[in-house]
Amino acid sequence: MSDDIFAPGAASPSQWTTDCDACLGLCCVAFAHNPESGFPASKPVNSPCRHLTASFRCGVFDTLENEGFKVCRAYDCFGAGPAVTDRMRMDREGWTREDVARATEHLDGFRELARLRMLIVALEVEGGDEAAMVVAHLTNIAEAFRKTGAIRMDAETSAMLRSQERLISAMLAPMDRRDTGEESE
Ligand code: SF4
Repeated sequence: MSDDIFAPGAASPSQWTTDCDACLGLCCVAFAHNPESGFPASKPVNSPCRHLTASFRCGVFDTLENEGFKVCRAYDCFGAGPAVTDRMRMDREGWTREDVARATEHLDGFRELARLRMLIVALEVEGGDEAAMVVAHLTNIAEAFRKTGAIRMDAETSAMLRSQERLISAMLAPMDRRDTGEESE
């Protein structure tokens, strides 16, 4: 798999656009941090990163590498964050970091949707007829999330997703290499 998957514009040319300005900092809340996954300090899932500001911006974005958060530079939700944020803002406005951390169903949805979007983009990059069929199926599931706020998939699709773990791993590999200094910056 090419690292070009992280290049600007690599995501599918659709409404699934990564836009941190349209997101309540969900990736900075939803995921656990620990040294094993490349973070300088630990935090549990569903807890705001210490650098997430009250306006849902990264307080150290310009110096992520110096702060030991290189992995954040590489991460891409491929539009999952804005999609889940849209659903949250349908519930109500005026979210705070603490509110977001308590919105466990939305954070569960974000983790699931981000993984789905990652796999869709990975399959698009891989190409081929079979990948295109799977992408179409998964895209329907992701699009349904916009309308319902839920990810519904049958057992066969869940099993297929598990069988594609290698693609997710391949996408995350560049982050690991950056973190260990194996890849030049
Ligand atoms: S360092 Fe910045 S981008 Fe990384 S999790 Fe914290 S707030 Fe988010």
